[in-house]
Amino acid sequence: MSALTAIHAITLAERLEDPRLFRQYAYIDGKWTHGHREEAVSNPATGEVLGHIPLLDANQITAAVDAAESAFVHWRALRADERCERLLAWYDLLQANREDLATIMTLEQGKPMPDARGEVEYGASFVRWFAEEGKRTYGETIPSHIPNASLGTLKEPVGIAALITPWNFPLAMITRKAAAALAAGCPVIVKPANETPFSALALAELAERAGIPKGIFNVVLGEPAEVSRILCAEPRIKALSFTGSTRVGRLLMEQSAGTVKRLSLELGGNAPFIVGPDMDPKEAAYAAVDAKFQTSGQDCLAANRILVHESIHDEFVEQFAERMAALTVGNGLESEVDLGPLIHRQAVEKASAIVDDAIARGATLVAGDQRQAPGENFFMPVLLTQVTPDMQVWREENFAPVAGITAYSDDDEVIELANDTEYGLAAYVYTHDIRRIWKLMRALEYGMVSVNSVKMTGPPVPFGGVKQSGLGREGGATGIDEYLETKYYCLGALGSVSGS
Ligand code: NAD
Repeated sequence: MSALTAIHAITLAERLEDPRLFRQYAYIDGKWTHGHREEAVSNPATGEVLGHIPLLDANQITAAVDAAESAFVHWRALRADERCERLLAWYDLLQANREDLATIMTLEQGKPMPDARGEVEYGASFVRWFAEEGKRTYGETIPSHIPNASLGTLKEPVGIAALITPWNFPLAMITRKAAAALAAGCPVIVKPANETPFSALALAELAERAGIPKGIFNVVLGEPAEVSRILCAEPRIKALSFTGSTRVGRLLMEQSAGTVKRLSLELGGNAPFIVGPDMDPKEAAYAAVDAKFQTSGQDCLAANRILVHESIHDEFVEQFAERMAALTVGNGLESEVDLGPLIHRQAVEKASAIVDDAIARGATLVAGDQRQAPGENFFMPVLLTQVTPDMQVWREENFAPVAGITAYSDDDEVIELANDTEYGLAAYVYTHDIRRIWKLMRALEYGMVSVNSVKMTGPPVPFGGVKQSGLGREGGATGIDEYLETKYYCLGALGSVSGS
């Protein structure tokens, strides 16, 4: 038995302090639901089967909509502070079960345990944030232009929300949406990625314990294209919030046109990481390594194109390579592991193809020996230099631990290079020159620009992209608006004579 397999001889449930958090069902109307067929879910680090999920049929998906429709009546009628109490109870349970939730996540997604614990904290923080934001969904008073009338707006829940989420952040991408929707008074139907369903189902178990009523938080599973098609075509679902690839986002947008849904789309990124000539190459290189390799590069915020001023390029590359060489790759359950596996074999093949394409088009492979990979889903960190815009590693979100560096000569050139993509999620800028900071911040066509900081996300900020990186914002003061309608009212004075 290999070292990787030995770690997993124990079943997932046996690893948990509370084995009831491991559920192999869908969750509809407060009931754990079987399907007529099932699919295995594997640990990407070992290939071991962790468990099975049901593949629901169309009637079962519709049953989730029926349940949400019935439950909506009561949930929307609760006072905001009553919904807040339930959400805070959910938050407390997420915190209390952090270790089990992190274990489930590491086993199904592969990320190292410290990162998984960090994601539980991050995911829970949105629940607390939106629990409070729900109490601040203020309408407005509008100065009237109509004689004897009072004008204003009310905020009302949009209705049932379908939430379709990816495998790279199996917990936080759900809570960032669900907490906002629930706080606004909307029931949700969550469709997690089939690769990482168990985090979503553990969330459902804890939502039930927190007193969130049946029918308000549902988790459906099935063949992704089929489930999504049903959710998009369902007229009773009023909002669709999706996080995932731009390709699938476009498809869901088309499929939702027939029912004119409210859409929030958090799609792919192709983040530039710009290093100015005034930077200490070591400081910038260490930050770039952090921005590139989190979640093994499978992160929409990952630094995908590293643009370094020519005057410090060579030293930056040296420092980057040294720092990268210190990263350890392995099973996320082991201590001292920095990079877990990629999600599946196809991701490894895609990463290899991207590296081969870059080398064939003239890039230099500085480091990255795949013979050292500790298992078939692992990909050793790669460093490429002399990357150019004709290469896949430049044009596509590589979603792998592949770093590509390009030298530039002045600010205008780097702005043009950075904006040369259909994506517009996040950009990083490293410089201490205040004029350069303002120039780049204004010129970069991105929803988020982070200057001299790798960390940029969290509940108080509006997360989202421009161009083909998406629509809408999650988190922040406006995140709850994705699930609210504005109703305008005009209150005429009864008995008044028109025009008097
Ligand atoms: P994906 O688009 O393949 O899948 C996302 C979800 O859509 C999953 O639930 C999946 O089951 C479902 N899906 C897949 N194919 C479908 C189809 N044909 N029809 C309907 N639904 C389908 O994305 P992924 O590989 O799970 O995640 C990676 C992508 O997510 C990357 O592009 C990444 O940048 C993006 N992402 C964006 C953000 C953000 O906030 N902008 C955050 C995390 C991930």
